[in-house]
Amino acid sequence: MDYLPIFLRLVGEPCAVIGGGEAAARKVALLRAAGARVTVTAPELCPELRALVRSGAIAHRPERFSAAALEGAVLAISATGDRTLDAEVARAARAARIPVNVVDDPELCSFILPAIVDRSPVVVAASTGGASPVLARLLRARIEATIPAAFGELAKLAARFRARVRERLAPSERRPFWERVLEGPVAGLVFSGRVRQAEAALQAELDAAAAKTPDPAPRGEVYLVGAGPGNPELLTLAALRLMQQADVVLYDNLVPEAILERTRRDARRIYVGKKMADHAMRQEQINALMIQLAREGLRVLRLKGGDPYIFGRGGEEIESLAAAGVRFEVVPGVTAASGVAAYAGIPLTHRDYAHSCVFVTGHLKDGAMDLDWHGIARPKQTIVIYMGLVGLEALCRQLVAHGLPEDMPAAVVQQATTPEQRVVTAPLGELAARVAEAGLRPPTLIIVGEVVRLREKLAWYESTQRA
Ligand code: SAH
Repeated sequence: MDYLPIFLRLVGEPCAVIGGGEAAARKVALLRAAGARVTVTAPELCPELRALVRSGAIAHRPERFSAAALEGAVLAISATGDRTLDAEVARAARAARIPVNVVDDPELCSFILPAIVDRSPVVVAASTGGASPVLARLLRARIEATIPAAFGELAKLAARFRARVRERLAPSERRPFWERVLEGPVAGLVFSGRVRQAEAALQAELDAAAAKTPDPAPRGEVYLVGAGPGNPELLTLAALRLMQQADVVLYDNLVPEAILERTRRDARRIYVGKKMADHAMRQEQINALMIQLAREGLRVLRLKGGDPYIFGRGGEEIESLAAAGVRFEVVPGVTAASGVAAYAGIPLTHRDYAHSCVFVTGHLKDGAMDLDWHGIARPKQTIVIYMGLVGLEALCRQLVAHGLPEDMPAAVVQQATTPEQRVVTAPLGELAARVAEAGLRPPTLIIVGEVVRLREKLAWYESTQRA
């Protein structure tokens, strides 16, 4: 190790920053975030620093650097942008035995600043020892993505309970207790923003542990999670967190392997897939299974394509969970329409072409489509049709019969956002024939409207796929 990582307490401590430019302003912000009393020494200040001086947030010595600028300081940062002056600051600081950092010049530093992930009071610091600040930042981004936003809240909650736990549990019981709490439902409640419920749950766990009645509350719960349209990059952080946490995963055929791979390795996977005709499991069976698994104490992940509340029957699943008194959490996902829009270059609304957008299902009921055609076939409105491939021909015919011109631009997009994405565009009157020729396979989304014209300019995804 070339450097020893430590965390300095700077609250109320005087710190000196030399230099008045933007680099200096960034360091001032960092020191202030740690509660330091900052004095900036520089003849001139950038607007940001000037504003801080004016509001009294920092002090200013409007002069060139001299050793006097370091008097009383516990730490110095030089960001003058002038190598000779920076070296002078570094020398003076070392002579005064004050730790010094010079921006972008590891040679002159007695300490370096790490890349920081701040979930106060939890702070993660990463450093490459000055070898590559960019690499440190990349590392930071990775860590950032894996630590839930509310991690700090969890630490604060633990801090509030520390004394109580010490009082009521024997030393040998404490560690297993905290492991259970910090990995279990209490943590889940905090991460989903329900700190008050988490506090109550933690108290209940502590009472039960102290009374030696294990597992007070039933721990099972269900996460209804939108997995997006297929590309794993489009998962939300909340989805990933719950995918890592669940004991058992219920998924259907809209969720590809690339996404399932990101669920916890030892989680049980249950396929409950629904393809139009061959339902692997009926909806009622799925509902009953979720309830049963949750009652066994398992954390159940119900992973759905797109968004669970858009043609996903998420509403019904949650209703049955609520009726059974099972705890649940719902996480939205990128719906297929949004995925198609971005990845096929077809915006859903546009100032010039579409002022509204409707999502409808083209699912056939007894061989017919039961839709409000007048409400759908309107000028300046984009029509997005889910599950419409089988009924495509009838659909196009109906839209024309209800007033849309035969040459209205339309598109069918297969497996949007994935490497298998294929797009067929054609005037409404020819769409069904073109799609049949191309042999598109589900899942496909249909978009009808003037916005399809924009595709020529906006289809970045396919051009990068080809490249
Ligand atoms: N809840 C999902 C929709 C479920 S209905 C969502 O919000 O996206 C299933 C239909 O969604 C499919 O028949 C198809 O029309 C559409 N769909 C889902 N993923 C798609 C994708 N990657 N590309 C095109 N259409 C998709």
